[in-house]
Amino acid sequence: IVNLEDVHKSFGSLSVLKGVSFQVKKGQVVAIIGRSGSGKSTALRCINRLEAIDSGLIEVCGRRVSDPAIDLRGLRRDVGIVFQSYNLFPHLTVEENITLAPRAAKGKSRAEALELARIVLRQVGLADKAQAYPEQLSGGQQQRVAIARSLAMEPQVMLFDEVTSALDPQLTGEVLKVIEELAAGGMTMVLVTHEMAFARKVADVVIFMHEGRIWETGGGDMLLNPQTAELQQFVDNGL
Ligand code: ATP
Ligand code: MG
Repeated sequence: IVNLEDVHKSFGSLSVLKGVSFQVKKGQVVAIIGRSGSGKSTALRCINRLEAIDSGLIEVCGRRVSDPAIDLRGLRRDVGIVFQSYNLFPHLTVEENITLAPRAAKGKSRAEALELARIVLRQVGLADKAQAYPEQLSGGQQQRVAIARSLAMEPQVMLFDEVTSALDPQLTGEVLKVIEELAAGGMTMVLVTHEMAFARKVADVVIFMHEGRIWETGGGDMLLNPQTAELQQFVDNGL
């Protein structure tokens, strides 16, 4: 459902992705780990074309993302992305935050969008917060609303970029639980995370990026038995 082949990406003279290739099959959870600056976010942003690539190929849901003529609206309907900062609209209620895009970008009626909002809020455990404003919620709850908002677009693939790194441990747990339930429900996901235990538990495939390359890849248990000094060091020090 997602296919990257020999993707290169530079910012000016800084080469950030140096030939990255991987696939994500339908229903798979792929976790990307690696040091700060190794290119994890850039790889994710290239998948839904928040960044254009220099060379190589990216395909998502049968769309050729690297094609300059790509239907961006269609791509972004298929691919949801959630970042560390949740970017909810502060002047809108939770329900309004969630129904906005399905109505504007998918042509859903108000009633359809409200029904969708009910479903996705239940999925993230916030059925009782539909009428709350973002500032009335904890960071973990706001992040779950951001996830619900993405789910309301009924995406084929979800991308998560360190969605818990701004949260304290208890709130992190709430958000990880939601992601774990999505995984169990068969959602296809690519998640950049610093939560090693979580990656080990939830991911079908773990990708360790180092200096713009996929340095090591395997199942969750690859973290127990690193084959390269770089991954060993990362697992030992988180660096
Ligand atoms: P972190 O764990 O800190 O989030 P990361 O692995 O996600 O790191 P990226 O955000 O992909 O790393 O960044 C990789 C490199 O590309 C970094 O050196 C970063 O400074 C640089 N970079 C990222 N985005 C841009 C940009 N828009 N313009 C210039 N340089 C950028
Ligand atoms: Mg990043």
